[in-house]
Amino acid sequence: MPYITSPGQIVKYVYLLDTKQFSRDQQTSIFIYWDGNICLLMDVGTSNDIEMLFVNLKKMGIPLNKVIGIVVTHYHFDHAGGVSELWKKLSKQNPDFKIFVPKETCHKLQNAKSHIIGAKTTYGDKVGSILKLPPNAYSIVEKDVFLPIKLADGYRLQLTATPGHTDDHCAPTLFQNDTPIFCFAGESCGALCIESTPVFMPTSMPPGFHFEKYMDSCRKIVAMAPENLGFCHFGAIVGKKKITKCLLQHQKDMVLFRDTVIRAYEDQPDTRYVVKQVIKLFKQQGKISRNESEPNSPNVIFAITFGMMIDLGYRKPKYEQP
Ligand SMILES: [Zn+2]
Repeated sequence: MPYITSPGQIVKYVYLLDTKQFSRDQQTSIFIYWDGNICLLMDVGTSNDIEMLFVNLKKMGIPLNKVIGIVVTHYHFDHAGGVSELWKKLSKQNPDFKIFVPKETCHKLQNAKSHIIGAKTTYGDKVGSILKLPPNAYSIVEKDVFLPIKLADGYRLQLTATPGHTDDHCAPTLFQNDTPIFCFAGESCGALCIESTPVFMPTSMPPGFHFEKYMDSCRKIVAMAPENLGFCHFGAIVGKKKITKCLLQHQKDMVLFRDTVIRAYEDQPDTRYVVKQVIKLFKQQGKISRNESEPNSPNVIFAITFGMMIDLGYRKPKYEQP
């Protein structure tokens, strides 16, 4: 099966967990590295998702004092929002527990107020909280360089710089020797939504989306040729060939999405009209299921269209500055 759409092992030492975010299955991924001695989390979900994470760790028999840290794909509330709550709980079990992030992500998480206000306009009270932590909760890491953490069997982890969805976005990538055996693409090259068949949605959320950087990041992941590719929303693709095929198609779809926004705006510079044309396109591409509800809710389609319009200079960010 090229698509992994349910929780479980992806490759040796790497597991997919379901946050059950917003009380939905297959909404948002957490990946974990667990070799029996060291556990490292990749993303956490919102502050409301911590409990589900602890249930999963217990189920897997992972002692909390073995969880040495977390890396995140980017600062958005639905992926990194839980870090402050997580640090409060896990630093009691393991005083060396760290949030390993690049400095931009640290800055965003330590100053998350405007992001939370903006996110609430799309997601309401599901957003949770991100609280400021003592600076020693964070360990600042360089992008595209292996982290100074000793893993098993020649495994090494780097945060591959993949801006575009947000400027701070990274794809945590596990190498075994020099082979990229698993890359957590996050939202750097689409969201893998599980409808009747998996479909790729753009992740052009406001205010930080940047089209050219996004396309460069997609190309960077294709060139890296990981053997397994994980997604924030939700699951993973197995096999280099399938990954390349999906990402090349996604790049074509992104060009078409952008062209549709440009054409619609030139026709009628009204956001609702532009969103309507985008919905038409997504229907043609089979990206929206017939009942049009979950998981690609109208709010999300509005947000990703608005993010593309900001990048094109048609609109200004409303709450948070990119
Ligand atoms: Zn995001």
